[in-house]
Amino acid sequence: MKLHNRITSIDSITISIILYMVGYVIKMSAFFDSVLVTRISNFESRIIGSVLISITVSQIIMLVSVETEKKRLAMFLAFLDSILLMFVLDAFALELFSIEQIKRVFIALFLSFIYYELIEVFKGKKSREEAKQKQEEAKLKEAKAIEKLKDKYRCPYCGKREQLNQHQLNGHLNGCQEYKKYKNNINNEKERVSPQV
Ligand SMILES: [Zn+2]
Repeated sequence: MKLHNRITSIDSITISIILYMVGYVIKMSAFFDSVLVTRISNFESRIIGSVLISITVSQIIMLVSVETEKKRLAMFLAFLDSILLMFVLDAFALELFSIEQIKRVFIALFLSFIYYELIEVFKGKKSREEAKQKQEEAKLKEAKAIEKLKDKYRCPYCGKREQLNQHQLNGHLNGCQEYKKYKNNINNEKERVSPQV
């Protein structure tokens, strides 16, 4: 496969989604850790719990975004994602409209938007690939049906199998040398058995 085809392939998009999800797990783990720090004092338990729940949540968000037909739901998830990232980046703790806050809010919105678009591209690509696969399957079915017909209307004298119906087979027989030979033989045989007087 050529490079430009490879970088726009569904596998390449899937890798991007997986990479984003890894980042997602990290940022969500950080978020859960910060929330749970006052509830679970044991560091290991807190981290394991945070990571496990982050993996589950990020996978659910990815699955729902990919499978849903509702664009609004995918947009809402992307919006929640950006809010989460703003919490992780401490964007709300900063002075309102300061450069630092604008930067962090921008990063959060930008990343969520990228993920949303990535999922949309993936969905488009997936449905195109499925349509292509269906088309190929239909073509294969058609080719098999034609092969079957060719066997059904194969010329019994010379074995040619280009004919697809009885009409074509009759047409072929008109010019078939083997059929002519067969007919001549039959006629000769008749003459031999009952010679004209
Ligand atoms: Zn023939």
